[in-house]
Amino acid sequence: MFASLILPVPLARTFSYRLPDDMAARACVGMRASVPFGKSHTYTGIIVALADAIPEGGFEVRDVLELLDEVPTVRPMQLELWRWIADYYMCAIGDVMKAALPSELKPEEGKQGIVRVDFRPKMKPFVRIILKDELADAFDLLKRSQRQQMLFTTLLDRSHALQQEVADVVAQDELLRASGSTTDVLRELVKKGLCEVFEQEVSRLDAPLADDQLQPLNELSEMQRVAYRDICQSFRDHAVTLLHGVTSSGKTEIYMHLMHEVIGQGRQVLMMVPEIALTTQLCQRLRRVFGSRMLVYHSKLSEPERAEIWKTLLRDDARIDLVLGVRSAIFLPFRQLGLVVVDEEHEPSYKQQDPAPRYHGRDVALVLANKHGAKVLLGSATPSLESWYLAQQGKYGLVQLKERHAGISMPSIQLVSMADARKQKGMNGPFTPRLLATLGHALRDGHQAILFQNRRGYAPTALCPSCGWSPHCPRCDVALTYHKSTRNFVCHYCGYQTPWPQQCPSCGNPNISLEGYGTERIEDTLKQILPIARPIRMDTDTTASRKSYERMLADFEAHKSNVLIGTQMVSKGLDFSEVQLVGVLNADSLMNMPDFRAHERAFQLMEQVSGRAGRRIGQEGEVLIQCSDTHHPLLHQVVRHDYEAMAETQLADRRRYGFPPYTRLISVYIKGRYEDRTRRLAEQYAAAMRQSFGVRVLGPEAPGISRVKNFYIQQILLKMEREASPTLVRQYLNRIHDAMVAANDEMMKVVFYYDVDPM
Ligand SMILES: [Zn+2]
Ligand SMILES: [Zn+2]
Repeated sequence: MFASLILPVPLARTFSYRLPDDMAARACVGMRASVPFGKSHTYTGIIVALADAIPEGGFEVRDVLELLDEVPTVRPMQLELWRWIADYYMCAIGDVMKAALPSELKPEEGKQGIVRVDFRPKMKPFVRIILKDELADAFDLLKRSQRQQMLFTTLLDRSHALQQEVADVVAQDELLRASGSTTDVLRELVKKGLCEVFEQEVSRLDAPLADDQLQPLNELSEMQRVAYRDICQSFRDHAVTLLHGVTSSGKTEIYMHLMHEVIGQGRQVLMMVPEIALTTQLCQRLRRVFGSRMLVYHSKLSEPERAEIWKTLLRDDARIDLVLGVRSAIFLPFRQLGLVVVDEEHEPSYKQQDPAPRYHGRDVALVLANKHGAKVLLGSATPSLESWYLAQQGKYGLVQLKERHAGISMPSIQLVSMADARKQKGMNGPFTPRLLATLGHALRDGHQAILFQNRRGYAPTALCPSCGWSPHCPRCDVALTYHKSTRNFVCHYCGYQTPWPQQCPSCGNPNISLEGYGTERIEDTLKQILPIARPIRMDTDTTASRKSYERMLADFEAHKSNVLIGTQMVSKGLDFSEVQLVGVLNADSLMNMPDFRAHERAFQLMEQVSGRAGRRIGQEGEVLIQCSDTHHPLLHQVVRHDYEAMAETQLADRRRYGFPPYTRLISVYIKGRYEDRTRRLAEQYAAAMRQSFGVRVLGPEAPGISRVKNFYIQQILLKMEREASPTLVRQYLNRIHDAMVAANDEMMKVVFYYDVDPM
């Protein structure tokens, strides 16, 4: 018998091995096995096919060394999805395997013999009571120590030793906490033969809520009920439905009712959210309804926790009905999905940039759902133009919620001219007098505010006023951002850091000035000019751990702070009822990005962050957007909350210039240590592509940031008609690649990859 395996190597193929007889009887598709590779390597991979005959190819077929599983670790449907991802995103299936499996389960390379990597259960000390025939005898042993009596009494109580035939075991930490005791005291009890301590496997996942903490579903409002009914109706003719509901319209309640329905039919639900940022508040809400039938899968879990979630989902008896997860949750071993909800489907963070597979979580979710025969609900207040377009075309169903729930009105948005304020010399740091006055007023009334600036750090650039010198990363083609907390200039692309120079390295001028405002500097400035403000800052610098993020949310909720300053993190799904004012500090910087999606993205960010204001009845929210050009049409679409007008304008532009959703893009990247070699290869490559694709090939061109970590970057863009067959396009591209590699040795000296549907 022979097995084909996926191995963790960046080659677009599987590998065949012979299965010795003892293994052949046990082997199944989806199991892990270790195999020899090359002269001295041992890899472990996943079996994807079994066959009786020797596979074609005439290679020497070697033996599988060991089968590592009793039951498959990967389900057949997952393997199908891996194949689809490798094919569509043009990467090696080994790379998909690496991304999919938690590292505790991940086959690892070993140079000498087999390195077995496997899931280790978490162990914890427990205490078991040993009862003497007479309880009095036991207390007799303890009569000289009150603390030992106390501990023993607690153990009696917690283990229900007097009520039950067999006493319960009690977790050691729980016992010590309940009795206010220490391990020393416990050791004395053990010595006297009254109890024993032993290790037992425990779950790493959150403990389930007690029954009395569970809550029934909220009843839907009339408006939500109509939307719910329309979605069910839409699912009859459409596999995918887009729910376009303004911020605070109660989309989550509708999701929960749909989930409940699907779970009732015995099928599973995957709810996807873009980032951990959204999960805290949402997670608590879902947990109260779905309790221990729900698992949460996010990027800040430890590797053992990930593996435990995987193992739990593999057990069909575990009764997990709902997974709340970020994009990588599409890789989990679902039994039978009935519904996939993609919340905030417009978020760019669903797209993985690096490393391969460079997949889009929402788009893969559509394929995953299709394999399970499940329905997909895409939800957003500001849908991506791709999804909106498909809904307009009738390919997706469309359901809209145009009002906020419970009669809460949409926040009123006003534009504030920074150009005017500058002319009147009224700017106070990054603040116009209007924003400052409104903010002061709101805070004095006891309200809270959110300030949004899409730049972290203290100042985006520094400048020598006499010679124009400014600090740049030696490894990347970018200016360094100043971080005051560490007194360093930092590269946001590679992490390079360098201290503040005593004087300008170019001309010796000691007075280097800082230009622009990041979140850190805004926080600093606000503290100086508005003493009533007690700001906290939320960006990737301050929320490195899940704990710090949760603490920040809790502090803001408890009014320990009254101004939340942050990057795009604050635009996402946060729900604070006391936020009355939202300030956008610089709308121009959002709109002026060199990207065909810049305006769509700017609208989404401003609309989403505005949606954080006035989420309570009787308190109208106010939003001030600072900008230079108050006549910009996009800003007026934001002011009117007019998503549809924005979509119409932007789609017309996309059609005119041939951008998605009217075309499909594939970026070809070539990165190398030497600028001219990289450029030369990219030019040859583009010329080869033009022979097949003609004017659909753009470039090569160095992207906006043309060098990162000392690698020069060249990009070739392929723009295909939407109707073109993706399979055919990939075949052509693969043929071009093979010919280039065969004709040019230098291709082996550069990094080459595709980014399909780049963001
Ligand atoms: Zn200088
Ligand atoms: Zn750098």
